[in-house]
Amino acid sequence: ACLGEAVDPAYAPLVLEDLGFSSGDTRWTTPPDAPTLARHHVVIVGAGLSGLGLGMQLAKLGIPFTVLERNPEAGGTWFENRYPGAGVDTPNLFYSWSAHRNPHWTRYFSLRDEILAYIRDTASGAGLLPHIRFNAELTRADWDAKETCWQIEVTDRRDAKVEHLQARFLVSAIGHISEPNETRFPGMERFEGPLFHSARWPDGLELAGKRVAIVGTGATAMQLAPAIVERVAHLTVYQRTPQWARPTPEYRREVSPGAQWLFEHLPFYAQWYRFTLFWRYGDGLLQFLKKDPHWPHPQRSLNKVNDRHREQMTAHIEAVLAGRPDLLAKSVPHYPPYAKRILLDNGWYDMLLRENVGLVTDPIERMVHTGVVTRDGTQRAHEVIILATGFSIAKLSARLDLRGVGGRTLAAAWADDNPSAYLGITVPDFPNLFLLYGPNTNLGHGGSAIFHAECQVRYIARTLVAMIEGKVAAIDVRPEVHRDWVARVDAEHAQLIWTHPGVSNWYRNRHGRVVSTSPFRLVDYWRMTHEADLENYRRVG
Ligand code: NAP
Repeated sequence: ACLGEAVDPAYAPLVLEDLGFSSGDTRWTTPPDAPTLARHHVVIVGAGLSGLGLGMQLAKLGIPFTVLERNPEAGGTWFENRYPGAGVDTPNLFYSWSAHRNPHWTRYFSLRDEILAYIRDTASGAGLLPHIRFNAELTRADWDAKETCWQIEVTDRRDAKVEHLQARFLVSAIGHISEPNETRFPGMERFEGPLFHSARWPDGLELAGKRVAIVGTGATAMQLAPAIVERVAHLTVYQRTPQWARPTPEYRREVSPGAQWLFEHLPFYAQWYRFTLFWRYGDGLLQFLKKDPHWPHPQRSLNKVNDRHREQMTAHIEAVLAGRPDLLAKSVPHYPPYAKRILLDNGWYDMLLRENVGLVTDPIERMVHTGVVTRDGTQRAHEVIILATGFSIAKLSARLDLRGVGGRTLAAAWADDNPSAYLGITVPDFPNLFLLYGPNTNLGHGGSAIFHAECQVRYIARTLVAMIEGKVAAIDVRPEVHRDWVARVDAEHAQLIWTHPGVSNWYRNRHGRVVSTSPFRLVDYWRMTHEADLENYRRVG
């Protein structure tokens, strides 16, 4: 009735819970006494959306926790990315914590400041701030089998002072896209103006009237370039690979006061609206991202529906760039849509038509003190160069110096860039370590990263409750369970678009294995992570 179409009954428990008809709360059978709780301290690394989400859950359960945050403020990626135009491309009424809905979003796709304010206000309202240690970086953590706890070294980023903590449980919530790609171009140190990564936007940078270059055409560049183009004298976009982008007329639409009133006051309206977003932006696409072995055009698309999506997006580009065959030739990708992260067209193609914009596809050869030289020998003058060149994700939590059983590092266990974890959450021989937004839990087909993080938060919270109630001090996942999981993930991915050979994407490691995205429907992952499953774990110590 809500959608005017049939919904697979597999979704019913998820939808009932998300809409508040059934409780998704994690509860104690019998709440433990204070000394018992005190022995189960949790250290969470990262005060972004997922780390804070776990903090809220632990606070409700009374489990003591500390959040270590390397930045001076909470918010994770939303704190770090402050380039003009930074915003969300999942609608906010879905991209928000399920227990902390905000009826006051001013846009359907909000900009960074509003999202950051939502994160701060929610964290503060949930009483999390006293639990967060800011400027505190985990610099090493060792599993102590004798004491059954993690020995954690924390370095204060302001004065390099080192401190030691002990915790029964350690949770890494450091995110996927928190480490800028270290893109190097010959001669870049000679460039005389500001040159920086998009996630390291300098304070007080003035762009008005400047000749600006942006390197890269991913989600960041696509938000950033249209946001600055009117104020700069000239903008050059250096494109290595064109991107697919869906026309999204509502991208800049504001939520009217009337709609805000409805979200706040009309019973069930906000929940219904959220569900329609879950449905529209959720699992529907995944079935069309499967390779059809009989499809005759595997270079351009994967299957019939994927080909139709290609045609629709191509028609959109052709309509906007009509009369500019030069731009058209540079802008229509050769690979199937969705093989790289799909983007939303927020005025990108219109922007390319402007007189003060140039789209350069000749590769960058080197940088000189006044600008960029491309391989064809052309030198272009710039006063500012912005590297919107993406992030290094291959190491994920192995970026942290974590040492499990026998002192083996997570980096060694993951052979440097081959991360894997059961459910994306637990790793053999790393007892009482949990990962949030870990390997193969990023969403490439749809959904909201917060929804997925909440699945993981629920799983971790229920596991801790089961352990504390069952007097289990430490666990790690059985190697065979982990192996089966990895085989299942890889088998699913072999059928899916992100292993398509004709294109690169940041979801894969250097051997071509997909380590970032989940191959599962949201509803399946929700079910897999809904309850603690201690039978899949070994008791340690
Ligand atoms: P990205 O998607 O990895 O894009 C990086 C861009 O830089 C690509 O166009 C890439 O070209 C280019 N590039 C990288 N190295 C280069 C080099 N050496 N020379 C020339 N070009 C180079 O990075 P991003 O745009 O920062 O986005 C990363 C992720 O952050 C997104 O996929 C998304 O998950 C998230 N994000 C989300 C939003 C949002 O709307 N919510 C906004 C921004 C970012 P190739 O394609 O050829 O590799």
